Amino acid sequence: MSEIDVPESHPRYQSLLTRHRIEAGVEKGITSKQGLIAEGRGEAFDYLLGERTIASADEAARAAAALLLLAERPVLSVNGNVAALVPGEMIDLAAAVGADVEVNLFNRTDERMRAIVDHLREHGADDAGVPIKGLAADGRIPGLDHERATVDADGIGSADVVLVPLEDGDRAEALSAMGKTEIVIDLNPLSRSAQTAAVPIVDNILRAIPNITEHARELSAASDEELERIVREFDPERALAAAEDVIRSGDLD
Ligand code: ATP
Repeated sequence: MSEIDVPESHPRYQSLLTRHRIEAGVEKGITSKQGLIAEGRGEAFDYLLGERTIASADEAARAAAALLLLAERPVLSVNGNVAALVPGEMIDLAAAVGADVEVNLFNRTDERMRAIVDHLREHGADDAGVPIKGLAADGRIPGLDHERATVDADGIGSADVVLVPLEDGDRAEALSAMGKTEIVIDLNPLSRSAQTAAVPIVDNILRAIPNITEHARELSAASDEELERIVREFDPERALAAAEDVIRSGDLD
């Protein structure tokens, strides 16, 4: 049975499902109203990209999987939109690459933090043995104002590789300035977050997270040399240019 009252064959099924999940997230207190605006912006870009994973985004997802497998301390950051759209998928990815998950909010309130932690637990975090961080709030990202600077010292604070889906540009830049290797998922190839990332994945998070997990499972037996080669051969500027090309040309084939 579908989560929404629309058949999966409907041409706009995925976009309707996304809207439904974001709306449900707002009702449940895990997504902010600002999150609705971010969703609208993302949808417009997804439409221009043909609502599918373009080849360069698939390559980026593979490089992201390799980076996460190579990382000493990988952390996946979850905000209100991510929690509403892909809670179980984030847990699956964390389990596949041995990462922690950290709840990190632009509009941080204790209530929303707790609601998201609970939501991730309801989606199997404990069963999968995935640590959920974010409540300790004992670390800071230099160069940001108090609310947005807050992280866990033993989470994002000490991570070497961070996956930051749907991140705001300021924070993405500040994390990069701290020396973190960033993987960003953002449908807008022109956003500062995407431009800052070592690995920008220009794709809908609904498709991108399961895709990274699939690549990670395929690469689980690969040697470090092989993983390093995949990362080395990935060119972020080329990936962003390829996405922009699809948008500008309207050539969806
Ligand atoms: P920046 O500061 O990096 O230039 P911004 O101000 O546009 O970015 P926000 O509005 O905070 O950033 O973040 C929303 C971003 O997330 C947008 O770039 C939007 O395209 C992207 N986005 C929204 N929904 C999704 C989704 N489902 N999958 C992937 N990206 C998404």
